[in-house]
Amino acid sequence: MECDHWGNITVPENQTELLSLVNGERLRGGPTTTELCYGNPQVRTRLVHLISDYAETHPEVDYLHFWLDDRTNNTCECDLCRHKRVSDHYIKILNDLDTELTERNIPTRIVFLIYSDLIWPPEEEKLINKDRFALMFAPIARFYNEPYELPAEDIDLPPYQMNENKPPSNIQQLVGFLQKWQEAFPGPGFAYDYHMWYFHFYDQGYYGYLNLLAEDIRRLADLKLDGFVSCQMQKTFFPHGLPHFANARLLWNPGNSVDELAGYYFKGSFGEEWNEALDYMKTLSDLFSPEYFYGKKRGRKVDDAETQEARAKLSKVKDAVSEFYPVIERNLDVENSVQNLSWKLLEVHSGMVVIMAEALLARDESRSEDEKAAWEDLGGYFVEHEDITENLFDVWSFKRIFPLLR
Ligand SMILES: [Zn+2]
Repeated sequence: MECDHWGNITVPENQTELLSLVNGERLRGGPTTTELCYGNPQVRTRLVHLISDYAETHPEVDYLHFWLDDRTNNTCECDLCRHKRVSDHYIKILNDLDTELTERNIPTRIVFLIYSDLIWPPEEEKLINKDRFALMFAPIARFYNEPYELPAEDIDLPPYQMNENKPPSNIQQLVGFLQKWQEAFPGPGFAYDYHMWYFHFYDQGYYGYLNLLAEDIRRLADLKLDGFVSCQMQKTFFPHGLPHFANARLLWNPGNSVDELAGYYFKGSFGEEWNEALDYMKTLSDLFSPEYFYGKKRGRKVDDAETQEARAKLSKVKDAVSEFYPVIERNLDVENSVQNLSWKLLEVHSGMVVIMAEALLARDESRSEDEKAAWEDLGGYFVEHEDITENLFDVWSFKRIFPLLR
């Protein structure tokens, strides 16, 4: 459960030696971020029994995910653990788990994770029963300005350095690590990626990242992966639901054209003036420069031509909205109820993007008072329009990304 990131755990004093020892301290974070001392056989046995009991009482679960390491550099440094990579400990537990499930005659498949410190493949251990497992490649550190890319043959992969790891954001290096894992586990696997986790908040036309998503899906076969799971907000239907529709259709047929899918979807959603609505969305995606602002989030400080272009584009949002507004206005009373809702959502969205563009521009130009005022305005605007957006737009998550919003 997502909330387990911030939940509390109580560990009895006589069991703290089961927790990961880092810098001389037994770590106690939230439930999903507290690592254990995996070199301790008692820890491995308890984990194996816990997971097996769950699988036994949930036969409806065909693929059960068992993940470690939702943060980097929390690996236990005790004498039992320090000489192995966390992925070697992981494989050892997975093999024990397979033995236990086989003994109990439980057919559940186990999904294991390549992510964070686990991006470095095991050095010593190998998965024994390949039929039991599926690999999940979760390149969370990547950017969304270039699709999956096979690495050059001589690519350098950063070394594993216990608790000083820096998982790469370079997609070729990430795929290079995937290939190393696939040498150890040539079984089924899939990507688990984050296009609609919060990258989509930066793309206010909900259109720009679809071409990237489509290309990623088309390249799954090159990566020897068999599928794709989107790690994302559930409420990602504001201002429209094309990303979901396109994602599903592309997984069914990666040869689909994004423009054709968009045409089909928008014709149904917006009726007669669907093409105008689609062009407007493309314009907004372009004017918000999502890759630029997503990159900024990771600490980019260079003030160059790209910066100037991104700022110039943001300052055009207001005019683009004014120019398109008459089209929205004349469609607000269309009879078809689906299309009627679509245009009403665009109407609310048009007010949002103008304020959001002001806030992002002020943020980028370090005008902190203007920025604060704009986010405050936007917070008020969301409250005012919550009756129409609450099932379609995740304000809580939006606030997490733009914390000055009140
Ligand atoms: Zn340990």
